[in-house]
Amino acid sequence: MKWGLFGGTFDPIHLGHLRCAGEILEIFNLDKVIFIPAAQPPLKNDRDIISFYHREQMIKLAIEGNSLFSSSDIENQREGRSYSIDTIKHFLNHSPENLELYFILGQDAFHGIQAWKEWDKLLSLCNFIVITRPGYEIKGLQGIIPSDLSDKFKYDKSTDGFAGPTGNTIFFRKVIYLDISSTDIRDRVRKGKSIMYLTPDSVCEYIVSHSLYMEHPPIS
Ligand code: ATP
Ligand code: MG
Repeated sequence: MKWGLFGGTFDPIHLGHLRCAGEILEIFNLDKVIFIPAAQPPLKNDRDIISFYHREQMIKLAIEGNSLFSSSDIENQREGRSYSIDTIKHFLNHSPENLELYFILGQDAFHGIQAWKEWDKLLSLCNFIVITRPGYEIKGLQGIIPSDLSDKFKYDKSTDGFAGPTGNTIFFRKVIYLDISSTDIRDRVRKGKSIMYLTPDSVCEYIVSHSLYMEHPPIS
């Protein structure tokens, strides 16, 4: 069994997330990808994030009909800030024994990995898949994490990944470049512009019907 865990704020989910998840599922032959919205993202406290409920509803709408995609509210079940290390530990402790976990994240997020709680331990807990994102080059591990740790991850040609001391691997994979971001979607909604084809129609409709991301939502 191979599961991909795709963490994020998903405020809102968009086609960049969905397409990447689909490609990674295909490349690694995963049994499923689980979207895991952060209840309280530790690194995004500089702006208001819409409620967990709305973000989760939009994920559910976006993945509807794809039996290989699911979502988890595990980070909303915990108090306080949502740390990936706690989520990974949860899945390691509550999943079938033969399970291989792959944590999926974009190159931009990986560049900031050292700000994540217990980041060095995190990298040894499961496999990581770093996906390309417009504006961020793949650099491997050098320059992203200190060399005393990066030296412990050895490139393995047979898997095209960097095998770490605990038997887990960090992979870098090219996926289609879709320069779509939640920030851009929120900006467009605020400015009254269309977000059609940036996120599934069902999510567009949800945003409109709940007046999400608008500067001055109508008083109902
Ligand atoms: P925001 O602009 O609010 O930061 P976002 O579009 O970056 O939103 P997140 O929820 O922050 O979306 O991203 C969750 C994960 O998905 C991160 O690891 C991020 O790097 C990755 N990701 C998001 N959009 C893309 C994309 N278009 N291509 C590749 N990876 C992406
Ligand atoms: Mg982001």
